[in-house]
Amino acid sequence: MKILFYDTKPYDKDSFSKLLPNYPDMTIDFLKTDISYHTVNLACNYDAVCVFVASDVDRKIIESLARCNVKLILLRCAGFNNVDLEAAKEYGITVMRVPGYSPEAVAEHALALAFAVNRHIHKAYIKVRENNFSLVGLTGLNFHGKTAGIIGTGKIGAAMAKSCHGIGMKVIAYDMYQNPDLPFVEYVSLDELFRRSDLISLHCPLLEDTYHIINLEAIEKMKDGVILVNTSRGALISTEDLIKGIRQYKFAGVGLDVYEEEDENVFENREDDIMESSVTARLLSFPNVIVTSHQGFLTEEALEAICETTLENAMSFENGKPIESNVVS
Ligand code: NAD
Repeated sequence: MKILFYDTKPYDKDSFSKLLPNYPDMTIDFLKTDISYHTVNLACNYDAVCVFVASDVDRKIIESLARCNVKLILLRCAGFNNVDLEAAKEYGITVMRVPGYSPEAVAEHALALAFAVNRHIHKAYIKVRENNFSLVGLTGLNFHGKTAGIIGTGKIGAAMAKSCHGIGMKVIAYDMYQNPDLPFVEYVSLDELFRRSDLISLHCPLLEDTYHIINLEAIEKMKDGVILVNTSRGALISTEDLIKGIRQYKFAGVGLDVYEEEDENVFENREDDIMESSVTARLLSFPNVIVTSHQGFLTEEALEAICETTLENAMSFENGKPIESNVVS
């Protein structure tokens, strides 16, 4: 089986190359560039393509893949909102993903963002480097005894809920399904979660009904001084509404590993670029906002698990028995 990898970073190449000797019938070629109308035809001699979170696999790309006889799209990530699944189905292309590589990796990053904005670690780091040892402006609050509101208690949300419980927080959650592994969690309505939470962390997928789940109406229901963390998908939050909320001093802190405009930025070094849009720049201008670049997944354990599952997905497809739980279309 020949697989063409798009949008490959050095850490992808390292981790996949390590495991590849275990799969003698598989060949991988790594491309730095992402899949696009200009690069999709490079996949013509391949059985499968492997893409990542920022790859925009729309209908036109899928049509081209089908023309190239590509039968399989391997997502080396959990989310699949960047692939036109209907088109994939129509053209008989199977789409497989890595549903849960290391939920703790993402949950720990969500926690890191929550801690950092709460205790102003980003400001303290800069201040001390400038020999400014003043504590003014660095007051946080104890998470212990406060209420964490988790939206989506699947694998990552559950890991986050357990961590919050572990540091002595009361944990409430909103999900259509109650996770039986979380007996300490009180499930409530979304409105109640907004009203009661001191920390809100988003862990639901981006779907039609979760698009802008955090909008002005939701923000108005939240407690003043709430901390909001998003490690799930950018478009769960309306950025314009978030900025309005920040300007109304609603938030003690906001930690974003994902945000609406991230696609152009994610995993790229753009330090010499002039930004085309001001939304990200405005977000970065607030002292109580920390933005990271979709790095929640980035631990050695998670990378290893991503490789294993992606290659197992490819093998299972090749053997005619694709791992059912990993097939999204
Ligand atoms: P999961 O499928 O295990 O859990 C998702 C949960 O959300 C499920 O319990 C589901 O019932 C719930 N849900 C669905 N619709 C909902 C709604 N309308 N309201 C509330 N809950 C709803 O997924 P997961 O592995 O926990 O991943 C969660 C998300 O994290 C993914 O969709 C992905 O977008 C994101 N993610 C981010 C990174 C990163 O690096 N930042 C890495 C991996 C995954």
